[in-house]
Amino acid sequence: MEDFEIKILGSVSPFCYKNKNCVGILIYHNNQKILLDCGNGITRNMIFPNDLENLNVIITHLHKDHYGDLSSINYAAYVYHSYHMLKNKIKIYIPSVNSMQDDINYSEYYEIKNGEIYIGDLKVTFHDNNSHGIESYMIKIESKDNTIVYTSDIGNTNLEDVIRYSNEVNLLVCESSLLTTDNSKLNTHLHAYEAGIIARKAKVKKLILTHFWPLTDKYNYLEEAKRYFDNTTLAEENKTIILRRK
Ligand SMILES: [Zn+2]
Ligand SMILES: [Zn+2]
Repeated sequence: MEDFEIKILGSVSPFCYKNKNCVGILIYHNNQKILLDCGNGITRNMIFPNDLENLNVIITHLHKDHYGDLSSINYAAYVYHSYHMLKNKIKIYIPSVNSMQDDINYSEYYEIKNGEIYIGDLKVTFHDNNSHGIESYMIKIESKDNTIVYTSDIGNTNLEDVIRYSNEVNLLVCESSLLTTDNSKLNTHLHAYEAGIIARKAKVKKLILTHFWPLTDKYNYLEEAKRYFDNTTLAEENKTIILRRK
């Protein structure tokens, strides 16, 4: 039986391109929904009003490619609620509540800190890897049967911490902004091969790469990560991954 349904809503950064959106992952578990980041364009892959009911939005950090569509959710929720088509307020978890409130919404805001909360029967942990230049939280979601880690944006200066945090998880969704062929000196994002190394050392079951440059052929990232970890796949808009109950 199904435990998690994970739908990729967006996979690129820092701008939308053709049918690709900035990052966002919608996770369904029982009657709860968790949206991990809310990048530009992702709401065009959501089903309104159904996906708004019991929706928990987690914004991992305050870079706009991770929250550019938040106002679309707030405005949509406000309107659907006024038409009596939405019962429950959207819950928004975000590093700084005060800076981000929309004037029009049907939402409750909660501030993220390192630590854990419960959403239904899911344990959700926030952990800052301290490598992205600003406060940026990795997210761990645990049910009785499966554990998912989403790295959000991290750099390559604190890899042992990510490896420890992702130890033996069923699914690791890891940022993969760079390729070795980019010849980039940036250390506030990961290369695809580093995502592969993390997955291998953490002994995860499955790796999904995300957060690609919009104009680069995604298969380059896959090829680079697979040199270190074979069970790797690409985040692609509207792709769905199922994790089953044990
Ligand atoms: Zn970022
Ligand atoms: Zn980003």
